[in-house]
Amino acid sequence: MTLTNFKFHGGIHPKQLKDLSRDRAIESISWRDEDEIVITLSQGIGSLNHPILSIGDSVQAKQRISECYGEISVPVHSPCDGTITAIEERPATHPSGLQAVAIVIKPDADSSKIDINKANDLVNHKIDVSKLSELLSSLTAEEIISKIRIGGVIGLGGAGFPTCAKLHGGIKTNIETLIINGMECEPRITCDDRLMRERAIEIIAGVEILDHLLHPNSIKIGVEDNKPEAILALEIATTSSTSSIEIITTPTLYPSGGERQLIQLLTGKEVPSGTLPSAIGVVCQNVATVAALYHALLERPLTHRVVTVTGDGVESAGNYSVPIGIPIDSLLTQCGVVDSVRITVGGPMMGFELHNSRSPITKTVNCLIVEKNSSLPSAPERYNCIRCASCSDACPAKLMPQQLYWAAQSRDFEQTEKLNLFDCIECGCCDFVCPSKIPLVSYYRYAKGVIRGAKQEQNRADEARVRHEFHDARITREKAEKAEKLAKKRAALKAKKESNKSTDKPNDADKKGAAIRAAIKRAEAKKKAAAANS
Ligand code: SF4
Ligand code: SF4
Repeated sequence: MTLTNFKFHGGIHPKQLKDLSRDRAIESISWRDEDEIVITLSQGIGSLNHPILSIGDSVQAKQRISECYGEISVPVHSPCDGTITAIEERPATHPSGLQAVAIVIKPDADSSKIDINKANDLVNHKIDVSKLSELLSSLTAEEIISKIRIGGVIGLGGAGFPTCAKLHGGIKTNIETLIINGMECEPRITCDDRLMRERAIEIIAGVEILDHLLHPNSIKIGVEDNKPEAILALEIATTSSTSSIEIITTPTLYPSGGERQLIQLLTGKEVPSGTLPSAIGVVCQNVATVAALYHALLERPLTHRVVTVTGDGVESAGNYSVPIGIPIDSLLTQCGVVDSVRITVGGPMMGFELHNSRSPITKTVNCLIVEKNSSLPSAPERYNCIRCASCSDACPAKLMPQQLYWAAQSRDFEQTEKLNLFDCIECGCCDFVCPSKIPLVSYYRYAKGVIRGAKQEQNRADEARVRHEFHDARITREKAEKAEKLAKKRAALKAKKESNKSTDKPNDADKKGAAIRAAIKRAEAKKKAAAANS
């Protein structure tokens, strides 16, 4: 274990509030007899999936049930044996609270409720790991990435970026450093902590797969110093690893788990604005994602994930391995939810309030905070900005949050872009420190939404213009081709006539006339000869 020597700008120390769940080992919770499984077709970042089965079709656990066409997209799978009962819009687990198209499955009464990703005990993992290098050497890099893609793996730390897309970029670049994100810096969330403590061998196996694919010069796993058990478990697991892995501990500071902040903490390098980590030779993956890609390589697609359930609104706070698609209200009922609660999806800093508890668990849901309505603080009174600059001091992206706020408030979106709005990771540090209690992040989200909407609209208009111009060009080209063909035909006819005139060769009519005249002459000569003889 090494302590980091580097820092990033800003950051805050919110209360950790992890005690309710951090010492609760991962348990499996599955669907109840009355539940249906709702698999949303747009999970994480990426283009929409298309169902490959129909209503009434039977499915089996682990079966792929959708197809995806873009490179930045992965399919979804059924976590159970069952029957597809609907393909329709259902409440989405999204800040917008809108609906999203989903495949709805009624699990068979006798479908196994065992978590197929957890069911492998340590002994089995050891067997798998020992076979790993043999398996890796039998596959090409493309085949390995394809298995990870077909296994439906996306970033499980919250962003949901398809892992295959990051790896495709990685194998084409010279990767200096592979970083594994075990920071889990946001308050209340403990699922990655438990995963590192209980399944370090799977994580290290996943790291070996990435080492085989990317050939980085160094591999660093970053963990905050408030997770000593996780650090120890990872250290033990790395002792038998074939990869050279360094575990780096960092001081507990929010948002040290932000991708750019973590890279800076572990390497001292800053990712330039508007570029990806690969631009400075870094690939970053979350610990849960790394474990999931190990499973995917062994033909166990992403059908379950670990979710922290916490807050004073549930009797059994803990870390639960649950099927993706289980309705959130089923999960919370099984955890002993009390009446009249507010549910936050994700952590208290970056999460969002859930609008409909029938929404399903998706691949990116890492935490549910359930709070009694009676214990919620009333909304703080808001004051004018006093230009104290506390927000700039706290901003890990080195932005000027107060200026961004003024620009967004006055709808000067061009100015928000000039102020690097899209470098904002929506960490909420500025909100946290603002003495005037201005909900700054909500202004940035609004501005981003407007700008993205305008860009989409512009793209659609550009595409329509290109289509129209292409259509016009095709019509003009066809007309020109037709005219050219006609002109050639006319010219050929004219040339033929000219050629007939210029040669003295008798034409067919002349030949016919000459034959008739010769026949008449022969008949007259015959007549004369007959008269002379008589
Ligand atoms: S922290 Fe709040 S009050 Fe202070 S400058 Fe920023 S927005 Fe203004
Ligand atoms: S939410 Fe954005 S502007 Fe505010 S501190 Fe975080 S990165 Fe900076």
